[in-house]
Amino acid sequence: MSRGRPKPYFIGAPPPAARAQIFLICPHRSAIMLCNENAEQQPVLLERKGKPMTLLAVGSIALDTVETPHGVANEVLGGSATYFSYAASFFVPVRLVGIVGRDFPPEHRELLETRDIDLAGLEMVDGKTFRWRGSYAGAMNAATTLDVQLNVFGEFEPTVPEEFRDSKFVFLANASPRIQKLVLEQIDAPELTICDTMNFYIQNERDGLVELLGMVDGLVINDAEAVQLTRKNNLIDAGRKILSLGPRFVVIKKGEHGSMLMDGKNIFCIPAFPLDTVVDPTGAGDCFAGGMMGYLAGEGTADAEALRRALAFGTVTASFNVEGFSLTRFLSLDRARIDERFAEFVRMMQF
Ligand code: AMP
Repeated sequence: MSRGRPKPYFIGAPPPAARAQIFLICPHRSAIMLCNENAEQQPVLLERKGKPMTLLAVGSIALDTVETPHGVANEVLGGSATYFSYAASFFVPVRLVGIVGRDFPPEHRELLETRDIDLAGLEMVDGKTFRWRGSYAGAMNAATTLDVQLNVFGEFEPTVPEEFRDSKFVFLANASPRIQKLVLEQIDAPELTICDTMNFYIQNERDGLVELLGMVDGLVINDAEAVQLTRKNNLIDAGRKILSLGPRFVVIKKGEHGSMLMDGKNIFCIPAFPLDTVVDPTGAGDCFAGGMMGYLAGEGTADAEALRRALAFGTVTASFNVEGFSLTRFLSLDRARIDERFAEFVRMMQF
């Protein structure tokens, strides 16, 4: 594909009300163009602000057993770092740090190798891979954890490979705050650090988590966990409390009700992408973070404007993942399809 100035194309006809503000998607670079009706010759390119950033992720790599109203998936590929890395790899190359046991099926490793995911930081050691078993019922807004076996993940002492230490964007996916901190401390000069957490660590490792929050730029967390962490029932109060612990921004995910970004000055809210069929919500939060941080790394910035668009890319990327069990829906997905749904999502919000 040629590298010259890209020729924009429309994704569908813009609705009449949106005529003055038409979104164009460039098919072969991660830029969004905005132009108005009269400026078709010279669209305003919302240029990438910087050069793409290296993106590193650490978190769980799991064998999941999941039950939803659509069926059961037994010992399938899962884990917070797995979902995150695969989702982010639609945007930029990813460096993965994680651990599995000798029972980790080779085909799972091969699947990750088909993506632009560098596995130099994936350790295989004697013992069993992390396992999680959960179920979803009704509207499938929250998983019920039936069993967690940390196995080799419980003893993980991550060593970040030398060649990963210059990573600029770092995502600390769901893992013990002890592991998240150990990885962060090995990165030379990170420019954007975001962490995730969950009920398990809020309950069992609160002090370590609070310490970690003093070291990162951002936190992504779901609504119930934000309430559990801060003991505030109102999400705005909870967001403020989290900001007081250190991060410069927090993204609170509200499942089918969308997500909210708070940075101490502004609040930005975005809906979820409406879907009529959700097959398996496992990994939605990690894929949201992967789409979000993959987009930011591609843009090379995390300023307020980019963060808002990143929330939309996170939302759209996660919306694909929940259409199938494990990572199956991602297998037939590409960046162009993500951009198409992004444009559809933007049109849905214009009025
Ligand atoms: P999400 O649905 O985005 O919250 O993430 C689901 C993934 O988190 C599953 O693939 C699980 O393997 C993984 N997971 C579940 N419990 C834990 C845990 N305690 N630590 C790390 N990852 C976990």
